[in-house]
Amino acid sequence: MLKPCDVLIIGSGAGGSAAAHHLVRAGLRVALVEKGLELPRDARTLDVQQVVHEGRFKSAETWLDGRGKRFAPEEYFNLGGKTKWYGAALLRYDAREFLSDAEHQCPAWPIQDQDLTAYYAQAEQMLGVREFECEPDLSRISRRLTRTSPAWRTEALPLGLSPRIADNAVEARHFDGFASPAGLKSDAETVFLNPIRQSPNFELLTGSTVTDLVAQSGDATAIEGVRLADGRVLRARVVLLAAGALHSPRLLQRYIESAGLTARLPCYPNVGRNLKMHLLTAMVAVSPRRMSDAIRKTRLFLSTELPHSSVQPLGFDGELIGTLIPKIIPRWLARQIGNRSYGFFLQTEDGAHRDNCVRAASAASAGLPVLDYDAARTPAALAEHEQLVRRFRSALLRTGMMAFAERIGPAGTAHVSGTLTAGANPASSVVDGDGQVHGLQSLYVVDGSVLPRSSRVNPSLTIYAWSLRIAQALSSRLSQTTNAIRSAST
Ligand SMILES: Cc1cc2nc3c(=O)[nH]c(=O)nc-3n(C[C@H](O)[C@H](O)[C@H](O)COP(=O)(O)OP(=O)(O)OC[C@H]3O[C@@H](n4cnc5c(N)ncnc54)[C@H](O)[C@@H]3O)c2cc1C
Repeated sequence: MLKPCDVLIIGSGAGGSAAAHHLVRAGLRVALVEKGLELPRDARTLDVQQVVHEGRFKSAETWLDGRGKRFAPEEYFNLGGKTKWYGAALLRYDAREFLSDAEHQCPAWPIQDQDLTAYYAQAEQMLGVREFECEPDLSRISRRLTRTSPAWRTEALPLGLSPRIADNAVEARHFDGFASPAGLKSDAETVFLNPIRQSPNFELLTGSTVTDLVAQSGDATAIEGVRLADGRVLRARVVLLAAGALHSPRLLQRYIESAGLTARLPCYPNVGRNLKMHLLTAMVAVSPRRMSDAIRKTRLFLSTELPHSSVQPLGFDGELIGTLIPKIIPRWLARQIGNRSYGFFLQTEDGAHRDNCVRAASAASAGLPVLDYDAARTPAALAEHEQLVRRFRSALLRTGMMAFAERIGPAGTAHVSGTLTAGANPASSVVDGDGQVHGLQSLYVVDGSVLPRSSRVNPSLTIYAWSLRIAQALSSRLSQTTNAIRSAST
């Protein structure tokens, strides 16, 4: 058995690392269990062939989709989770995205936007979120696009990148979908874990998979630890689920079922449901002129006619785009096209639907986990996304750029969220506004699973902010009890 601690965290992505940082700095004894290992610090995580074409760092875990077809979702199991690979576009949700929007199938949050304001600010400050100057090619595209298509406007895209990245030609062109060996990207490991790695009250177990939640003997509703794949048990006063939106719900589902709590917990039928992924399309726009921008991802495009959608440039340079052009095109021509191209990432908020879900592996699914997602279940979102693709393509055409689009299918789980949604009512949600699983003592969720809405922008800043907020409340509560126990025993 391992040493007991105050808080045990499962997973080191955005949610797990932010909580660990706060709780360790508050003086609590924290253990973080991460299934993956540290990424190599050499240039392998910047190598287009290994990262993009061979997918060497991606998880190879096989899942079934809703029709029983095998596939591998875009998941990453390594220290820092998916944030090591993210594009570091770190945006706040808009105030209206905390409210219900019935037409778009979006439920309300159990908290108000103001409840996250201070934590958004804290996360932005720690992550060094900043705006970068718009480079010449993108300036020209945005100017022409907003002039010829007045429904569109652009604003600066806040990025979690070091200003020094502009001086590193390779990293400036390879941060979106790549991991930074030089530490020029504000990912969860660099910002939240590295500063606490040597703290005496912090224990980090990498390469260790949590297989089960463990309860107090005699009370199945009081979670007091976890079991690891090697059979060891780690006990804690509080357990935080932060394994990511495809994985946390499966741990919880398995626990509730094996502990015989399915009928006792009104939140059980919601576990794994209301999965959101954003409706996503990648678009490559080709122009007659060569493009030489490096960072690229510096502006956000919004349309007054598409309130649930946004567009951001991909941080891919022409060389990388050239390698993504189908092999049927001769390589010299693909390189020429790549050098004249700009990539864009189009995203639309998907609503919540109970049948969009994650299920733990079972005999019925041939021992494989299931991700059942169909965009047709959220028709308003699908209609808006189709309009987004049409309108942005036309707007680019008016600037003289010809655009080619490809929808990102259900394997594109980069932005997955909402499988343990936060809500006031246990009959329609899984955790309460304080992050605690309805009906289970000492079990909290701090990853993207909690998001009731996916919003029109990327999720990480909101996950960091939620996690810091839950950690702040927990540290006050746990420190108070610790102090009370100490003074009673003196
Ligand atoms: C290519 C790419 C680009 C992206 N770009 C952006 C962007 O620009 N902006 C943005 O906001 N977001 C972006 N995202 C999304 C963002 O990375 C995720 O939303 C965020 O990392 C989710 O945080 P999380 O804590 O929920 O989960 P994760 O970051 O996935 O972390 C979960 C961790 O739990 C570990 N784990 C899983 N199961 C277990 C287990 N049983 N035991 C122990 N550990 C376990 C995993 O290994 C992982 O490290 C991008 C993602 C990708 C892949």
